[in-house]
Amino acid sequence: MERKFICIRCPQGCEIITTLDGHGVITELTGNSCKLGPEYVKQEISDPRRTLTTTVMVEGGTHPLCPVWSEKPVPKDRVMELAAALRGIKLNAPVEINQIVLANALGTGINVIASRSIHGGI
Ligand code: SF4
Repeated sequence: MERKFICIRCPQGCEIITTLDGHGVITELTGNSCKLGPEYVKQEISDPRRTLTTTVMVEGGTHPLCPVWSEKPVPKDRVMELAAALRGIKLNAPVEINQIVLANALGTGINVIASRSIHGGI
């Protein structure tokens, strides 16, 4: 079986074409420009994950939203669930950069953290 992937490990976005045997094992792989491509494809086949970046509401701060990100990639099929959980969170200013916004998100063991500080409003 042939499967195509767009490698997202860097902006080049190589189109990688793989052939898999009946057990999902890669027997042929072409199109990658570096060794990260095969690693990406193996991860995509066995356990696809994405780093989530979004914003969370802040009350009483100089900005109404704080950018946040999952400190490790989360399972791809849980990204929308995590985004919905973060929409329900409201932080109180001040918020410190690297502050944990949601610990052990969805029981994955992965924290969501603030990627900037938000000072308290005047
Ligand atoms: S295979 Fe290498 S060069 Fe191509 S997109 Fe992936 S990381 Fe970038």
